[in-house]
Amino acid sequence: MRYQSTRGNYPPVTPSEAVKLGLAPDGGLFVPERHVGLTKEKLQEMLTMNYRQRALQIMQPFLADFSAEELNECVSAAYNGEKFDTPEIAPVRKLEENLYVLELWHGPTCAFKDMALQILPHLLVRAAAKAGEKAEIVILVATSGDTGKAALEGFKDVPGTRIIVFYPEEGVSEVQKLQMITQEGRNVYVAAVRGNFDDAQSGVKAIFADRTFNEELNRLGYVLSSANSINWGRLIPQVVYYVSAYLDLLQKGEIKPGEEINFVVPTGNFGNILAAFYARQMGLPVRKLICASNENNVLTEFIRTGVYNRNRPFKKTLSPSMDILISSNLERLLFELGNRDGEKVRNWMMELQHKGTYQVDDEMKRRVAEIFWADFADDRETLDSIGRTFRSCGYILDTHTAVGKKVYDKYTDETGDTTKTVLVSTASPFKFNASVIRALLGDEVVAGRSEFELLEELARIGKMEIPPGLRNLDQKPVLHKTSVAREDMAQLVRDLLARR
Ligand SMILES: *Cc1c(COP(=O)(O)O)cnc(C)c1O
Repeated sequence: MRYQSTRGNYPPVTPSEAVKLGLAPDGGLFVPERHVGLTKEKLQEMLTMNYRQRALQIMQPFLADFSAEELNECVSAAYNGEKFDTPEIAPVRKLEENLYVLELWHGPTCAFKDMALQILPHLLVRAAAKAGEKAEIVILVATSGDTGKAALEGFKDVPGTRIIVFYPEEGVSEVQKLQMITQEGRNVYVAAVRGNFDDAQSGVKAIFADRTFNEELNRLGYVLSSANSINWGRLIPQVVYYVSAYLDLLQKGEIKPGEEINFVVPTGNFGNILAAFYARQMGLPVRKLICASNENNVLTEFIRTGVYNRNRPFKKTLSPSMDILISSNLERLLFELGNRDGEKVRNWMMELQHKGTYQVDDEMKRRVAEIFWADFADDRETLDSIGRTFRSCGYILDTHTAVGKKVYDKYTDETGDTTKTVLVSTASPFKFNASVIRALLGDEVVAGRSEFELLEELARIGKMEIPPGLRNLDQKPVLHKTSVAREDMAQLVRDLLARR
């Protein structure tokens, strides 16, 4: 199994090289060269396995140059009872008739990015060793909130690595910010970027693309790598929970073997839902992938019209981890559905870069619409969805998952589809507690109270415990105070690395 670039201008690489490089040097993203199938027999075989065993089975063919022992070490280091607060790792619960919730927030930072970022550092260190890499790996991350903390937790004190996280000064919640700036670990750095997430992300991308700067770092004994959702090493662990959720439903007798289900995925960078797409490509019985956006609804428009247009005002919403106008991982979908034509993808991406918009051909539009359905929810609908779901099911959704729930309701209203559906829940309600309490009890209850008082309040309403990662955050010392302009990010990297 080798990996090729979606832009077709780089020779195929081994799985470990794909993981080590993150982004392909021609600016594209790595995708597997060959199809990996998931037979009925294989699904049957995995039925009684636990999450770790399932992860091994699913990831092995994609990471063929990792030995079974190596993969086992990675999986065991990531998905265990110390890091996750439930032995099921990614439990599925029934919410209402035909609707289930897949909870992806039982890891250390209470959001779904832990699912990938707990295992990525272990994959990366082994991948680098295989490639004979002697330099220290420097992870650069641009985060809209959750990735940063999840990456910091994943990489903290992992030998042979350093991590630098850039978060947008405007655009993360108080809790998210405190989680990052209080991060401990000998190899971690955190800086605020003056701007929004796209500023931070484009700054990081520019650093990766700057050949001279990369050569300079190499001479100093460093090599850059990415932990963003463009890294294949992050995507493949996400395929696991889609298959695992299907198996759980099968095992509980909620579905019959071979029965198709839908997934609703709250989407930003298109990483999570792309993993669902790969699970479907492998042969998992999936009918529709429902792509849920907030008011930054570029993807809704793209899936419905074939036009991707980022030329629009960036909106700050109550689901900040989905406040994204450039969904990087969409490039992989275009490649997979576009007859693996790197030149085509390259042209669209050039248009996106230069004009901020591109339009795919009718064939592509048709193929996308065959698999995906898309809509969005605004903030009012999001809050409303949290309130309604709590009143009818006694279950508290976070704002991102609530976007998914609202879009699911729109989907069933419009299509009448009664296919059993799994709503992918991407964050614990505690992580976005102020908005959640506003939804449940009204604005008055939130006014003038700190997010920490609100954590207590939410614990009371939901009769739940505050997760350990969010407790006592306000009492921890602030260790990272740097703030930087978009243009000065490279210089900051230089300075931080020079400080041995
Ligand atoms: C990152 C994130 C998303 C969006 O996931 P993508 O892979 O970027 O589509 C949704 N919800 C939460 C809570 C997130 O942290």
